[in-house]
Amino acid sequence: MHIFRLATSFAQTLKLPQDTPQLGLMEESIIRYTRTKGVISYFYDYFLSYDSQNIDTVVERWEKDLQSEYEKDIWNACIQSSQSTFLFNVYKEMQYRILHRRHETPYFLNKIDSNRSPLCIKCKSEVGTYMHCFWECSKIAEFWSHILEELSSVFKCKICKDLGQFLLGLPSKTGVLDSEF
Ligand SMILES: [Zn+2]
Repeated sequence: MHIFRLATSFAQTLKLPQDTPQLGLMEESIIRYTRTKGVISYFYDYFLSYDSQNIDTVVERWEKDLQSEYEKDIWNACIQSSQSTFLFNVYKEMQYRILHRRHETPYFLNKIDSNRSPLCIKCKSEVGTYMHCFWECSKIAEFWSHILEELSSVFKCKICKDLGQFLLGLPSKTGVLDSEF
């Protein structure tokens, strides 16, 4: 049988799925891209917009931990500044991961694999939640206390510990106390 007739016969008997598979955001974006120049800029912009589309969940989780709410503009400025504050990419990435809650905490890893301990790897006594690992742990609290002392010394005023400000770069809600120096 001629190959063409065989192919036609095959196509007639084969029932292909009628539904078009649903494309993901990235697949749609790649298909829509038809230019030959500016590929990196296009995808850079795409990833930035993707972040802003998905920041709501992260903001919700942070605001729950911070027990405080911030305007959307403040969050957007916070995200932007996390990419411009640091010179080195390794710090940019670290801040990005903190801000977007991408670190895999012991608590999270224990949810995936019950053989792994949910306890904090530093103090080994408390559950390693995001809040604990970055703020509440006694070992980390020492670090933040040193930062606080240093800042108070530099700015010659008493600065209050503020998780949103210290860790994320959000405006302080506790404010700066009057000078005591
Ligand atoms: Zn700890």
